[in-house]
Amino acid sequence: MRKLALRLARWVGGVTGRGTAAPSPAAAGTDAYALARQRMVAEQLVRPGRDITNARVLAAMSRVPRQEFVPERLRANAYADHPVAIGHGQTISQPYIVAFMTEQLDPTPTDRVLEIGTGSGYQAAVLAELVAQVYTIEIIEELAQRAAADLNRLGYLNAHVRAGDGWQGWGEAAPFDAIIVTCAPERVPQPLVDQLKDGGRIIIPVGPARRQDLVLLRKRGGKLEQRAVLPVSFVPMTGDETRRARF
Ligand code: SAH
Repeated sequence: MRKLALRLARWVGGVTGRGTAAPSPAAAGTDAYALARQRMVAEQLVRPGRDITNARVLAAMSRVPRQEFVPERLRANAYADHPVAIGHGQTISQPYIVAFMTEQLDPTPTDRVLEIGTGSGYQAAVLAELVAQVYTIEIIEELAQRAAADLNRLGYLNAHVRAGDGWQGWGEAAPFDAIIVTCAPERVPQPLVDQLKDGGRIIIPVGPARRQDLVLLRKRGGKLEQRAVLPVSFVPMTGDETRRARF
């Protein structure tokens, strides 16, 4: 309990407008959702067993209005400890998974980050709070359009959305300091490795449907270091390249 209180004290200063956090376009006031968000951070992210400790990541998670990325009729569940359906058979990831993957990427304010699998745009918004530029690709056109509109409406002007197959990455915006993949291919797409800077990180779920390992890759001197960090269950990566890569 004491450990939890200490951890909370470390990041709370950064999110209460005392000058330690960067100004946020989506800074939420004292509404009921803000309360739900603070509880989410304490009970789902900071608590022992979950152990998210990066103060900037926790501050971002406590600022981004997750309810704005969830269909209106499901908003009561926006801060629950599980994924939520966003239409087209897709989901917005569980808050803990978003925080965990973001923390693993070790984001810094000057980073250019690529995301594959925009979905609702929530993960992109969290990253947009933490890094310089976010490029995000979504294969379902309507989801891409909705996420782009939501990110724009909320003031995340450093998040750029493209509709298309993320297997190919985003060559024109490369190279990237970090890449986050939120749908699961059966192996790591080579174009993403090619578009990563030396010293850069990729966090990606790899494996068959519903049974993947979240893998953290680091490119060093042209070589890839790899370690599995968490068993997870993501929606599969779709698209022609994914299908071709199976054979
Ligand atoms: N990061 C999202 C959750 C993603 S769910 C969020 O914060 O809400 C995974 C998304 O990956 C789905 O929307 C799915 O349509 C998309 N996807 C699947 N295959 C893809 C591909 N080849 N390229 C880009 N997006 C893909």
